[in-house]
Amino acid sequence: MSSPENPKPPLAAGTLAEPTMNPTPSDSTPPVSRRQFLRDGLRAAGVAGLGGVAGLGAARTGAREYYWQIDPDKCVRCGRCATECVLQQSAVKCVHAYAICGYCELCTGYFNPEPNALNTGAENQLCPTSAIRRTFIEDPYYEYTIDEQLCIGCGKCVEGCSRFGNGSLYLQVRHDRCLNCNECAIARVCAGDAFRRVPVDQPYLLRTAPPAH
Ligand code: SF4
Ligand code: SF4
Ligand code: SF4
Repeated sequence: MSSPENPKPPLAAGTLAEPTMNPTPSDSTPPVSRRQFLRDGLRAAGVAGLGGVAGLGAARTGAREYYWQIDPDKCVRCGRCATECVLQQSAVKCVHAYAICGYCELCTGYFNPEPNALNTGAENQLCPTSAIRRTFIEDPYYEYTIDEQLCIGCGKCVEGCSRFGNGSLYLQVRHDRCLNCNECAIARVCAGDAFRRVPVDQPYLLRTAPPAH
């Protein structure tokens, strides 16, 4: 199973983390204890989830040695992941690299470009299915989590996060859903040529650092 590495060195207790790269109204970052809690605990939760479904997928497909996966650095958010999968609801979902998220109050992956207010009103959200949950952590930080039952893999949040944020939201083929078609219908039309085969024991191409814009 893939395992992301922490892209930043540990910080001494009582010091402040380095400035966030996000377009948050505040340039400050949470105290290290809070940030490390978020980084370690939430990242572990996210990766554990990916690892769990990887195991299920590998067991189900038996002799298959490779899975389809998206290289997040090549994805251009064309929207075809939502519409071209052979499944009624795409096997592609948004995942979140918590370790590089800025926990921004003004998350450009969550809010549409001109929100009426920074709250969870449906009219303020970019996601067409309200699949992103926004949770207050401590002033001015918010956590964003994806409800995969609702996510259709449209990539709108990924576009917002990639253009103006850290790129912590990105798309991956979830192997608890994917049929591992011989020829992936999305890969055939992918505008970024981002699909490739990966070994079943390394089924996710996890983002561990902000991409170069
Ligand atoms: S905006 Fe699209 S890709 Fe992002 S969480 Fe919502 S449905 Fe999923
Ligand atoms: S391999 Fe098949 S099921 Fe999996 S993402 Fe591609 S089209 Fe969908
Ligand atoms: S089809 Fe390719 S470029 Fe388009 S959203 Fe999916 S992975 Fe990204």
